[in-house]
Amino acid sequence: MSAWAKQPEGPLAERGRFLNIFDSANRTIGSYDDFPVLNPGIDPMAYLSRNKVPQPFWLSSDKDQTILNLSGRCRIEFKDCEYNYMQLEPGDAVYLPAGVPNHLIPDGECVQLRFKAEPPGHEKISFYCQRCNHRIYSKNFDAGVEIAQQVYWESCQEFNHNQAIRTCNNCSEVAAPVNLTGIVWPQVFENIRKANETYNTRRRDRLRK
Ligand SMILES: [Zn+2]
Repeated sequence: MSAWAKQPEGPLAERGRFLNIFDSANRTIGSYDDFPVLNPGIDPMAYLSRNKVPQPFWLSSDKDQTILNLSGRCRIEFKDCEYNYMQLEPGDAVYLPAGVPNHLIPDGECVQLRFKAEPPGHEKISFYCQRCNHRIYSKNFDAGVEIAQQVYWESCQEFNHNQAIRTCNNCSEVAAPVNLTGIVWPQVFENIRKANETYNTRRRDRLRK
């Protein structure tokens, strides 16, 4: 499916003070949406995803995060940490310490809430050599300033379309492009923009009354 494919019929995801999580989960549109489901400014912020495919890169953050696995099973892998991986069952939570790269591999489909500090601080996307584990490409950005989904998408496009970036300068292995099947970050980015607009309009209207 193209990233710009038509959206499924039905209501768009919204931000709000109250949350029906399983209703909201039905409004996710791809894997790793990480849609912010609470009103801006709430700390920690909850980000909702329904994941079916392996995360295309490793992610670390300069602030601690927590993942609550609501349904389904997955494996989360770590680098530079005393644990190599954890297996998550429905209801499990995993604490992600600042600076530890982590990578999700769903076993089927899993619905998750990721809690990030608000503002979330800097995040780092990393791609590693499968042969020698050397970090071959990374992108560090301020997730409080840029919309993360846009940076995720652009970094994957850059990685996939440039063989020089995918070439390990430690062992010369060329990494395969990452699989983005079922990931629709450009649409998610647009939906977040719309949800923020709706939130701001409602807030302005309330203040006027
Ligand atoms: Zn290598």
